Amino acid sequence: MGELIPNWLLQRSYLTPNRTALVFNGQTWTFQELKDTVHNLAMKVAGYSVTQHSRVAILVKNRPSTVFLIHALQMIGAEIVFLNSRLTASELSYQIKDSETTVLFYDHDFDSSVKDLEKLCSQLKTCSIENLTMSEKYSVNIRNEFNLDEICSIMYTSGTTGKPKGVLQTYGNHWWSSTGSSLNLGLQANDAWLCTVPIFHISGLSILMRSVIYGIPVFLMEEFNEKQANSLLQSGKITIMSVVTVILNRMLTVLKDETYHENFRCMLIGGGPAPLPLLEKCALKKIPVFQTYGMTETSSQIVTLSPEDSFVKLGSAGKPLFPAQIKIVRTDGTEANARETGEISLKGPNITPGYLNRKQSFHDGWFLTGDLGYLDEDGFLYVQDRRSDLIISGGENVYPAEIEAVLMAHDAVDEAGVTGISDSTWGQVAYAFIVGQNVSEEELLQFCQARLASYKIPKRIIQVKELPRNASNKLVRDKLRLLIEGRE
Ligand code: ATP
Ligand code: MG
Repeated sequence: MGELIPNWLLQRSYLTPNRTALVFNGQTWTFQELKDTVHNLAMKVAGYSVTQHSRVAILVKNRPSTVFLIHALQMIGAEIVFLNSRLTASELSYQIKDSETTVLFYDHDFDSSVKDLEKLCSQLKTCSIENLTMSEKYSVNIRNEFNLDEICSIMYTSGTTGKPKGVLQTYGNHWWSSTGSSLNLGLQANDAWLCTVPIFHISGLSILMRSVIYGIPVFLMEEFNEKQANSLLQSGKITIMSVVTVILNRMLTVLKDETYHENFRCMLIGGGPAPLPLLEKCALKKIPVFQTYGMTETSSQIVTLSPEDSFVKLGSAGKPLFPAQIKIVRTDGTEANARETGEISLKGPNITPGYLNRKQSFHDGWFLTGDLGYLDEDGFLYVQDRRSDLIISGGENVYPAEIEAVLMAHDAVDEAGVTGISDSTWGQVAYAFIVGQNVSEEELLQFCQARLASYKIPKRIIQVKELPRNASNKLVRDKLRLLIEGRE
C-alpha cells in the first residue's frame, strides 16, 4: 500500500487555523471554521449509508456547500464521482451506472434532471444539499490519514472524441499535481486563487485541493462574471486565476484600457491552445499568462509555459512540471526525434492509475494521451491535435486545429471547426465550418491560401449557425460532417 499522509484539511486547520480558506460573496471561512463545518456535515452524510470507499456522486454548483461536501466525503473516505451539470439525464445515468454510484447529493437547481435520472437509475439514493444540511447527525469514523494510492475522485473526461471515460484520481495524483504546480509557480504568503471554472472539472477541483495543501484562500464564484472577476484582479486580493480562452477574452473585452493589480502574478490558461492575438493583448497589458497542457487523466496541468517564454516559443505549451516527463512516440513505439510529430506520452505521479471499465492507455509505464505533438530541440512541447482528428489527404498529414486557428484569425470568423471528408482523389479532404459575420467562401479561401500550404486548404468553407459542442463546450469534430447532409 502507498504512503500515508495526514488528512489535508485536519493538518491544515491544525497548522494555520486562522488563515482564510474560502471567500464567497463577501463571506469568509478560516481553515478552522472550514474544518468544523466539514466535520459537522460529515456526520450528516454518514446517515446516508456513506462509508469508506462508497461511491458518491455530486451534481452541484460552485458554492461553499460544495467545498464542504467534498471535504466531508474525503473525511469519510468515500470516492467522489463528479458530474458535469450540463449533461442530460441519460448521459448522467450512463456515468452513474458505469461508476456503480449508490448515492447522489445535488443542488436543488438540478431538481428536474434528478427526477429524470431517478427514473433511469432505480437503485440510486438521492438527496438534495438542503435536505442533507437539515439531516440528523450520526457518529462517523474520521480519516486522520490519506493513503496516496487510494481513490479520491472519479471524474469523467469531456467526451470530445467518444463516450466520456471515468478517470480514477488518487489522493497521490492530487497531491503531486498540487506540489508539482507549486514547484513551478512558487508559493507566496499573499497567494489567493480565483476559482470561476467549474469544480466538477479538474481545473476547479484542483484549486480546492491546492487551497488546503498550500494554506491559501480560494475566492469562489458561482457564475463567471467578467466585471466581478476584473475588479477582484484589480483589488490586489488575487494572485492566481485559472481560465480558458473564452473566459479570458470576455475579461479583456470589458477591461478596455485598464490592467490588473501588480499582486496578480499568474493567469493560468488551459483546455486548448491559446490564440496569438490573445497573448499579444495580454503582453501589452503586462498580464502574465502561463499556457498549460493537461487533461482529466493528469489531474490538472502537467506542462506549462512561463510568460518569459511565451513569445520566444510561440505556440508551445511549455515544459513538464518537475515530477513529470514527456516523450513523443512514433506509431511503432520508438521515440521520435526533435520536431518529429508523434503521440504525446507522459509519465509522472499525477497521472491516473487508469480508467473505469475500459481499455487502459499505458505502454511501458507511459500514459498515451491520444494527442499528437512534437518537442523542439530545447524540449518545449507543441501540441498539434488529437490523433483521432488527424486528416490524411493525399498522403500528407493535415491538422484540423491549424486550419481552425487560421480561419479564426479572420475578423469575420468567430468559431471554426474542421474535419476530414472522404474524397475519391485524395482519400480525405478538409472541410471547414464557421460561425461568423457575413463573409464569402471565396474570401475565406483566399485568406487561407495566403497562410496555408495548398494540401491544407479546405475544399469547402461552410457557414453554419452553430458548431456541435459537448457539455464542456468543446468542439466535437466527429459531428461536423452531419452538418453537410442535405447541403450538397
Ligand atoms: P475525451 O477524452 O473524452 O475525448 P477530452 O480529452 O476533451 O475528452 P479533457 O480531459 O477535458 O477531455 O481534455 C483534455 C484534452 O484537451 C487534451 O487531451 C487535449 O486534447 C486538449 N488540450 C488541453 N490543453 C491543450 C493545449 N494547451 N493545447 C491543445 N490542446 C489541449
Ligand atoms: Mg481526452
